Amino acid sequence: MSVFHSLSRRRAIIGAIALPAVGLIPPATARAATPSCGGVATASQTEGPFFKPRSPLRASLIEPGLGGERLHLTGRVLTRSCRPIAGAMLEFWQADDRGRYDNSGFRLRGHQLADAEGRFDLATIVPGAYPGRTRHIHVKVAAPGRPALTTQLYFPGEPGNARDGIYRKALEMALVGAEGRFDFVLDLA
Ligand code: FE
Repeated sequence: MSVFHSLSRRRAIIGAIALPAVGLIPPATARAATPSCGGVATASQTEGPFFKPRSPLRASLIEPGLGGERLHLTGRVLTRSCRPIAGAMLEFWQADDRGRYDNSGFRLRGHQLADAEGRFDLATIVPGAYPGRTRHIHVKVAAPGRPALTTQLYFPGEPGNARDGIYRKALEMALVGAEGRFDFVLDLA
């Protein structure tokens, strides 16, 4: 028997073994292909040293005298099965355009509640990078009465992403001009 025939025969055997497994894929795996929320919860990330509780309730972090490029970030808070989480709490905090956090006041800090469809809407600026970190926005997201998911959002196409050990591609917002978009998926059915 030639090498070719021997390989074909081996593939045929592997194929015959592998084929029945296709029918064994559980429904949960099939659901994971759903595009909007993917069935997979948003990854958590370190809170970092600059979180400060009791931020003001506000959807816009824009204040007089605030420099930097404007950013409008929208999206939804969903369960793993893509159900919107009405009234989810979202708390954002970030550096200013020069990479500085306000640790004495509440500049560039705020929280808001998602609407009945789980939508949030944040008006802010593009944060500056600071030593050791690529550009990012910190966020805590919680379903009513549940513990918060703490994570960070990143910007696509940032040269600093590749050099930042905390950065994760899955936490990149979609960005078109000044319009950012990200859906949070909480670990709820
Ligand atoms: Fe930070």
